[in-house]
Amino acid sequence: MTVVETSTSTVPLGGPSLPQERRLVTRIPGPKSQALQARKAQAVSAGVGITLPVYVVAAGGGVLVDVDGNSLIDLGSGIAVTGVGNSAPRVVAAVTAQLEQFTHTCFSVAPYDSYIEVAETLNRLTPGDHEKRSVLFNSGAEAVENAVKIARSFTHKQAVVAFDHAYHGRTNLTMGLTAKNLPYKNGFGPFAPEVYRAPMSYPLRDGGLDGAVAARRAILQMEKQIGADNLAAVIIEPIQGEGGFIVPAAGFLPTLLTWCRANNVVFIADEIQTGFARTGHMFASEHEGIVPDLICTAKGIAGGLPLSAVTGRADIMDAPQAGGLGGTYGGNPLACAAALATIETYEADHLVERAAAIGRVMSDVLGAFAAADPRIAEVRGRGAMMAIELVDPDTNEPDAALTARVIAATHAEGVILLGCGTYGNVIRFLPPLSISDDLLREGLHIVGDALALS
Ligand SMILES: *Cc1c(COP(=O)(O)O)cnc(C)c1O
Repeated sequence: MTVVETSTSTVPLGGPSLPQERRLVTRIPGPKSQALQARKAQAVSAGVGITLPVYVVAAGGGVLVDVDGNSLIDLGSGIAVTGVGNSAPRVVAAVTAQLEQFTHTCFSVAPYDSYIEVAETLNRLTPGDHEKRSVLFNSGAEAVENAVKIARSFTHKQAVVAFDHAYHGRTNLTMGLTAKNLPYKNGFGPFAPEVYRAPMSYPLRDGGLDGAVAARRAILQMEKQIGADNLAAVIIEPIQGEGGFIVPAAGFLPTLLTWCRANNVVFIADEIQTGFARTGHMFASEHEGIVPDLICTAKGIAGGLPLSAVTGRADIMDAPQAGGLGGTYGGNPLACAAALATIETYEADHLVERAAAIGRVMSDVLGAFAAADPRIAEVRGRGAMMAIELVDPDTNEPDAALTARVIAATHAEGVILLGCGTYGNVIRFLPPLSISDDLLREGLHIVGDALALS
């Protein structure tokens, strides 16, 4: 392993050459992480929550190494960001080279070609072979905000519909679009006007309602409560992320899209968590064969550098006045270099197929857990985006306390694991696509052991 000598200790370099093993040399979190967590409490806003306070010094492949020398299995990818793995070699090389060229000019002041190349690449990769345009931003929330701006500019209408269990970000408009109060919205209102909510298709909890029927229920509500004449856009995650990895019933998304097309309502797919190979297609919309008008991307786009995008129909994307879209950092040259190297990695290393293979391992292992444990109400998801929903088997009521115990016990064994769900009772699995099968299975079995003991 490559190491860097520092004044105080020896720190391994990240990337795939990091030893791919779980190795615990202290309790989790260890003493150095605990000391940093105490410093954090004195220096960082208490509003910043932390899932697992192990302070990282290196990461790569399927592991994170902490300040105490523990090596943890990563089943979170920094929330679905490091699909290509941490410090992926092409990303490191491309960003390092760009760092030595120039770091920032602002694309709206003095542009550069990598921004255009990222736009061309997104236009090529996203569903549909119609003429497209893209615009780049920094965060997912910023992409969602701008997709709504663009849809309003194009339609000259104002209302926006989001769904039950939706998550679209933490800025004012995107908080309004997000369904869940705690922790995202509580105390942070008032929220932006002209945001409406429609019922989602949630097969486990809506009696397995047929997708088209569930869509018509949502459409009826939109027609009666808002009116298509006032509705600029419908925004939906093709698989809901924070809301609980909810996969709508087949037919739900196509039926909604058809209604949007017929009513001059812009259909925005928020693929920020599902995007870039994660679900076993480059984009989750492809599982249902839908071609959204606009697609928001972020997380998996640039190997961990902050970048997001809105991509979509040229006529819609060209509606805003020049100068209406942009920002100081959007499409920063380092992030663009990272995105091009990241997307090259997805394609050259066949990570779409790899995500599907990871999904087969996860559904096998998690399916076996579910067969033996009635508290697992459902194993769901696609590709390397899978989850289990935990309930009281007698009542089917969500069991958030059990979920929290399983996650805590898993953390203590050196596995990074995330929960989600409106009811806090879903455990989600988002491994980097660079994880080995052995490490993945080891991580999943630790979750299984934690479940058996909880
Ligand atoms: C994470 C996420 C966002 C917000 O992205 P940020 O980069 O955190 O602003 C929006 N939509 C979905 C579906 C997400 O998962």
